[in-house]
Amino acid sequence: MQKRAQSDALTTIQTGLIGRGIALSRTPAMHIREASAQGFSCDYRLFDMDTPEFDGISLAALLDRIAGEGYAGVNVTYPFKIEIIPFLDDLSANAAAVGAVNTVVLRDGRRVGHNTDLWGFAESFRRGLGEASRNRVLLMGAGGAGVAVAHALADCGAVHLSIHDTDHERAEALATQVSSNRADVRAEAVGDLASYVRDQRPEGIVNATPMGMAKLPGSAFPTDLLEPSMWVADIVYFPLETELLRAARLRGCRTLPGSGMAVFQAVRAFELFTGRPADPNRMKATFDSFDNNPAKQRTTECNREETK
Ligand code: NAD
Repeated sequence: MQKRAQSDALTTIQTGLIGRGIALSRTPAMHIREASAQGFSCDYRLFDMDTPEFDGISLAALLDRIAGEGYAGVNVTYPFKIEIIPFLDDLSANAAAVGAVNTVVLRDGRRVGHNTDLWGFAESFRRGLGEASRNRVLLMGAGGAGVAVAHALADCGAVHLSIHDTDHERAEALATQVSSNRADVRAEAVGDLASYVRDQRPEGIVNATPMGMAKLPGSAFPTDLLEPSMWVADIVYFPLETELLRAARLRGCRTLPGSGMAVFQAVRAFELFTGRPADPNRMKATFDSFDNNPAKQRTTECNREETK
């Protein structure tokens, strides 16, 4: 709920996150501290469907409850980003293109789904690799996050977007999806990475597979194919420097860590919930504060997945 003491003074906002295994998410802290820095309070609640509190409650019933309690909106994460769509009144253009929602804005009795993962990667890319050539880009991974990243790369000016996934049909489906949503990009699925790199000479590589996470070490992209002229982005952010990013840095490549996407998805969600600009540097500082706390870092490593 957005409570305003005077016509324009926001005093309290109620938001939250629906997902599973989200206890260690960094998103609540980013929203709460940003609101506090702006002079109002944010009550950010975790709706962890893995906990007994939500036993037997359907996603539809939970969303009804949240909407009825006057929340300004909710973030949505694994595994509900697609499942939530039938319970919404409308989708933003980005959410409709990606086919997934990570932010629901509740306003005037309506529920509108947004996808701020897309903008989050795009903004991180523009700030971190804005000048990099992007005529030919290889995207590794065509899963939930890969779909948002593919559209973001198109929005950032990628011309030839090649997509590799161990599930080749998924890569093909994403190439078709992004081509139909973004007319300027030429997208295709690729199978054999070594011959693709040799023949096409991509300027940039993006990892959107889970490979490289602390619990899934390694690199989906063979690091011996890296060239110093390439830029390399990863969306995995735990650890911040994945095996792929480390190899790329040592090879002399420009690199972009996954933390930027995680921060900017929250920046945009905050703006959608409140109607006010957020300070990305402040929200990034909150995000980074988790890495400066070794105790939190150890427990996060045990978590099932990276939860923003
Ligand atoms: P997902 O399971 O939906 O998709 C992963 C895809 O990668 C699948 O299609 C799978 O077949 C493919 N894949 C797995 N190993 C591969 C390999 N070795 N080579 C090629 N393809 C391979 O997962 P997701 O939701 O898309 O998330 C992927 C990763 O991105 C996770 O680590 C997640 O934590 C991270 N993520 C980060 C952010 C962020 O804000 N930085 C946001 C969302 C997800």
